[in-house]
Formats: sequence, structure tokens, C-alpha cells
Amino acid sequence: MSADLIRRLIEATSEVIESHADQLTALDQAIGDGDHGVNMARGFREIAAQKETLAALPLGEALQKAGMTLVMKVGGASGPLYGSLLMDMGKAAPAGIPTLPELATMLEAGVAAVQRRGKAEAGEKTMLDVLIPVSRMLRRLIQDGRDVDYGTRLVSVAAHALHRTSELKATKGRASFLGERSIGHIDPGACSSALLLGAVVRAVEETLTPTGTG
Ligand code: ADP
Ligand code: MG
Repeated sequence: MSADLIRRLIEATSEVIESHADQLTALDQAIGDGDHGVNMARGFREIAAQKETLAALPLGEALQKAGMTLVMKVGGASGPLYGSLLMDMGKAAPAGIPTLPELATMLEAGVAAVQRRGKAEAGEKTMLDVLIPVSRMLRRLIQDGRDVDYGTRLVSVAAHALHRTSELKATKGRASFLGERSIGHIDPGACSSALLLGAVVRAVEETLTPTGTG
């Protein structure tokens, strides 16, 4: 079960990054140095090349190994940041397929690692402006305990959060060099985070039972 999930996660995430690499690069050309698509594609191609090795591992170990690959292979700020996200999600992973509350705990651990690594908070126009609202919404949906479509809700929160990065002034990363001129542009890392979330939701829905708990 876990091997199928890992395979689908790798396929879905690497496909979405590959097919949107030009868009991510264009966003980074506007407020950065224009390498975000290339950086992300390089990292996820490397992960895709390790698909069978990763699928043979427990989910937690696979996430940690994929995270290390991103740290090592992706140039730029985003490699160590996404690497930290995956590594700390992996460290927080349970032995089997995570339940929804366990998934929320993993995501919270990963997001906290990105915050430590990047010394950034919400509102600084970074990937965190998608990751934090998604992580909070997942926890809230679980606490509400109502029968909702988690995937649709999370994807919609991510889409809204992504578009709101346009209004923010960058205070971290290369875009912060532009100051006020960063306003009016969507953050490239927030865009890759929203794309990755959509891919993860699709992969999980395709692999797991309707409750999402396997
Ligand atoms: P670089 O900025 O080194 O060229 P990328 O272009 O690959 O690296 O990634 C840029 C993205 O990284 C930004 O759009 C932003 O979302 C994210 N980012 C940059 N600095 C930080 C930080 N300190 N904390 C969180 N995310 C950051
Ligand atoms: Mg860049």
C-alpha cells in the first residue's frame, strides 16, 4: 500500500513541476532571478529517477531521502527549504500509512522546519504563505470533525492563498531586494507549493480509500 502511494506521489509531483516549470520560471523572472522552474524541475527529476528505491522504503524514510535529494540537487533557496519540509514531515511520519490527524502533524512539523530554516513567518511573500494556511486548514477540518471533502477544501485554500501573495511585499529571499516593487506579482515558491499540494491531493485520492486513512 505504502509503495503504491509513494510511487503515485512521486509521479504526480514530478509531473506537475515538469509541466509548470516555465510558469515558475516566469514568476521568478518578475521578482527573482528566473531559476525557480529550473531548480524545482532538477530536484523532482532526481526524485523521479529514484522512484523504485523510494517506493521500497517506509513513507517516513522515503520522505527524508527525497528531502535530502532536494537539499543536495536544487540550487537556490528553495532546495534547502523544500528539503527541510520533506525531511521533517518524514521524521514525524508514523510507521504505516498516516491517518488524517497524523498527516496534519507531519505537515505542521514540515512547515515549522521551513520556518526555522528560512527564518520567515506568514505574510513575507514566500512559500509559507501557502504552506501555513493549508496546514492550518487541514487541522481545522479535522477538529471540526464534519464530513467534508478535504482535498477540495485544501486545494481551494491554497489557490486563494497563492493569489493573495500578489498583494504582499517581499521581506525574505531575493524578491525582498525589490521592496515595494515586489507587490503585484505572485510569489514563485508559493506557486510551486500550491502546485505540489494539488498533486499530492490527487495522488492520495487515487491511492487511498475515500476516508483518506487507508
Ligand atoms: P532563489 O531565490 O535562491 O533563486 P528559488 O528561485 O528556487 O531560489 O526559490 C525562490 C522561492 O523561495 C521564493 O519564491 C520563496 O517562495 C522561497 N523563499 C525564499 N526565501 C525564503 C525564506 N527565507 N523562507 C521561505 N521561503 C523562501
Ligand atoms: Mg530564483
